[in-house]
Amino acid sequence: MTSLAAAPMTNTDESSDTIARRVAVIGAGHVGAASAYALLMSGAAREIVLLDAERRRAEGEVMDLQHAVSLSRPVAVWAGDYADAARAAVAVVAAGVGGRPGETRLDLLGRNVTVVRDCVRALTAEGFGGVILMTTNPVDILAQVAQEESGLSVGRVMGSGTVLDTARLRAMLAAKLRIEARSIHAYIVGEHGDSEVAAWSAAHVAGVPLREYCESQGCPDFEQLLARVRRAAPDIIERKGYTSHAIASCVLRICEAVLGDERTVLPVSTLMRGQYGIEGIYMSLPSVVGRDGVAGVVELPLSEDERRGLRASAEVLRRSYESLRGQGS
Ligand code: NAD
Repeated sequence: MTSLAAAPMTNTDESSDTIARRVAVIGAGHVGAASAYALLMSGAAREIVLLDAERRRAEGEVMDLQHAVSLSRPVAVWAGDYADAARAAVAVVAAGVGGRPGETRLDLLGRNVTVVRDCVRALTAEGFGGVILMTTNPVDILAQVAQEESGLSVGRVMGSGTVLDTARLRAMLAAKLRIEARSIHAYIVGEHGDSEVAAWSAAHVAGVPLREYCESQGCPDFEQLLARVRRAAPDIIERKGYTSHAIASCVLRICEAVLGDERTVLPVSTLMRGQYGIEGIYMSLPSVVGRDGVAGVVELPLSEDERRGLRASAEVLRRSYESLRGQGS
């Protein structure tokens, strides 16, 4: 059974000064630059402002992006400051360091929490009233830190969460089942990281449960598929040093949902409020995303095993989140 959270998760008075199709990208590294490029080529944003601690890097990316404008759509792109970013409808945070080979996303926490706090403080000091989309890892914890630091309503601060892992799973299933990925409804939920859970019991093709659907042609090894999804980032980082294209596509998709007030269901990371008995920690479940960010969370019909996995995932995140206490601000 599915249910939308009854409590409103957004304030309506926070968006008064925002420019409807402006997106700010904070951090012009691999993820930020690829996201800006995706936003530019799709025409989803009319204004893109790039910020980076290394101003010249942002400027270089902007020059490169500006030369693509005449081949795409009319989009204003510039290297700006926090006053520009504060008027954006969406601020994508991609500042910080990426994973080194052998490092988990949670290892990055100590290095990235200060960066994220600094960015969010600078944004809110300028009166930001849009939606924050966190991509910096560990994305669940840092989205929660950003929400608390910003004072914005919960709905307005989300993490890209398992949108990427879900995209990876659907791409792998599509290749196995020889069906287009968009026709396969399957979610990865929980942490964006090693404790994430594949919601197999809620997965389907055209309303037919996934296991039933693939019985006739031989089911793929589901455990192996989940292991491949979990290994995707390290496998790519071992080879090219970072990941960028798929996460940029996720950023684009989430921004489109906000800018177009689509109320699209995407597994972004948001605050759990009792779902499956989980409370007070950010993680991913399918969520309704529109102009004010997350408007509600959908509870999938999970098996007992999957529920247990999800609660264990929440505990991994909670321990990591609590390790921040005492580190001060
Ligand atoms: P990168 O090193 O290429 O870029 C990071 C950029 O942040 C750099 O240009 C740096 O100068 C800038 N920066 C650092 N501190 C800053 C500050 N205080 N203010 C503004 N800019 C600052 O790294 P990347 O490969 O682009 O990865 C960025 C983050 O995204 C990492 O944490 C990585 O793990 C994460 N990531 C997340 C996902 C996801 O699914 N959520 C996927 C891929 C990468």
